[in-house]
Amino acid sequence: SDTTDAGDDAELRTPIVAVLGHVDHGKTSLLDEIRGSAVTAGEAGAITQHIGATAVPLSTISEIAGSLVDPTDFDLPGLLFIDTPGHHSFSTLRSRGGALADIAILVVDVNDGFQPQTHEAIDILKRTQTPFIVAANKIDTVPGWNPNPDTPVQETLEKQSDRAESRLNEQLYEIIGQLSDEGFSADMYWRVQNFRENIGVVPVSAETGEGIPDLLTVLMGLSQRYLKAEMSIDVDGPGVGTVLEVKDERGFGTTLDTVLYDGTIRADDTIVVGGKNEPIVTDVRALLQPRPLSEIRTEKQFEQVDAVRAAAGVKIAAPDLDDAMAGAPVRVVRDRNLEEVVAEVRAELADIEVVTEEQGVVVKADTLGSLEAIAGTLEEAEIPIVRAEVGDIAPRDIAVASTAEDPKHAAVLAFNVDVLEDAEREIEETDVDLFADDVIYQLVEEYEAHVEAIEEAQQEQILDKIQRPCRFRILEDHVFRQSNPAVVGVEVLSGTLKRNSRVVKWEGNEPERVGELKSLQDAGEDIDSARAGEEVAASIDGPTVGRQVEEGDELWTEIPEKHAKVLEQELADEIPADELEALRMYLDNHRKRDPFWGK
Ligand code: GDP
Repeated sequence: SDTTDAGDDAELRTPIVAVLGHVDHGKTSLLDEIRGSAVTAGEAGAITQHIGATAVPLSTISEIAGSLVDPTDFDLPGLLFIDTPGHHSFSTLRSRGGALADIAILVVDVNDGFQPQTHEAIDILKRTQTPFIVAANKIDTVPGWNPNPDTPVQETLEKQSDRAESRLNEQLYEIIGQLSDEGFSADMYWRVQNFRENIGVVPVSAETGEGIPDLLTVLMGLSQRYLKAEMSIDVDGPGVGTVLEVKDERGFGTTLDTVLYDGTIRADDTIVVGGKNEPIVTDVRALLQPRPLSEIRTEKQFEQVDAVRAAAGVKIAAPDLDDAMAGAPVRVVRDRNLEEVVAEVRAELADIEVVTEEQGVVVKADTLGSLEAIAGTLEEAEIPIVRAEVGDIAPRDIAVASTAEDPKHAAVLAFNVDVLEDAEREIEETDVDLFADDVIYQLVEEYEAHVEAIEEAQQEQILDKIQRPCRFRILEDHVFRQSNPAVVGVEVLSGTLKRNSRVVKWEGNEPERVGELKSLQDAGEDIDSARAGEEVAASIDGPTVGRQVEEGDELWTEIPEKHAKVLEQELADEIPADELEALRMYLDNHRKRDPFWGK
């Protein structure tokens, strides 16, 4: 047929499911348990291992779910689980500006509740508007729990003591409360009517398999009910996918682990892939899928296939893939105009592009998705970026960071990437600081703490160099020497009196310089400074007591106008209250004469 209307050839593809959650909350265990129960429940073909994903067909799901699922209610073919859990791979896996995963499972440990990465995952789910359910995991760890392997939740709940059940309920309501704090209305899944509006919480154990039937049932039901329209694709059309990982594979060179979410890719297709500089146009050399376990006669890990249909994970071998990026789009050209397809890939990449400035930090991340997420967080924190790239840290990155004008910007923020050997040497030889973390907000917080430390040090340095205000008074009957230098007892009224300060006396609104304070003594010992309230002996070069200064006179240290300005505008928070008071009086005096003095 020559019709291009997807309607005629439309088929329903498998929804793509991602698992997210805080570290150690059981994402990997949950995926293993789903695969495990599938293999136990089904016969041959219970699951299909893809590259980077596992497909569980509807028949297997209904087998596991038992009475919870009536397979005739469904026409979606099953579920495709992304094997790499975590919001990292989730944000990597994009499609047309959104998330590649159609639906997500947010795993929350019932003992731990919400943790930093749970919040981070929720942010990503919100941003990408991905429907999700919450797997409240590890219910078997509730004290007094009586495990009933692989049973639906309600069934196992009936077999629990009142204490165990109410203990679990407390933990579940804690999680529901935390979801509500995040702006979601949530409830136990069996009370949820509309899963698009309310988040269903499914109590599970990845250890005992309790609740797994429920989890699969809810995922299947939610997909069927709310995602069916999006699952309708022209399966024979030119394939569209996202690069999950760029990998060297023995015998194949650089390959792309790809998740295909639309159409078909064939072994003789020309494809366009997002590259570091330009879209890459290349011809598929081989399509690879994992060899089924039953066929391990040969040493070979992969088998070559002629075609792969969405939704599926596939390894693509082709020439010229070195510049391909994880998170980038892959599009089959087939009978379409090549330039058009290149333009589409370029547009998708432009969507992800990060805004850079003349000055700022260097950011390196392992995928486009993570780069974009970090850039977003940095923008919120008002931290400018000078260079943002996917890939390991190379000498060039350090070189760029080392030319920063502001020492705060001499930094490389690295997310899930390695430091190349040459770059490591450069880091040692330059002032560039490296920050590496695999949790975005922690990465940004580490950098912010560093900036704060730099700013404090800078202020301390300024404070050290700056002349500080001090008001003091010549005590009556404490003139030890009249002149050359004058040695008098003084009381410090406010601020700190230091050696080597110029001394002024106010004559009306004019500060008259009377001399230089050369040294201070307390009980016959030389000291560097005296604080407000102290009485010490001061030797002042310049004046003669009885002429330029008198007993009882109020004197001040002289503050250059520039220093006064820095003190007032930048350091007012850093100096003690009595000193600030002295500063204000000093400024007021000057400003009676010249309102703009020190401004
Ligand atoms: P991930 O970091 O989120 O992938 O967490 P893992 O799947 O690696 O699990 C972290 C730890 O929790 C492991 O020691 C698991 O055995 C354990 N675990 C995961 N799920 C359960 C569960 O349902 N019950 C119990 N008792 N332990 C679990």
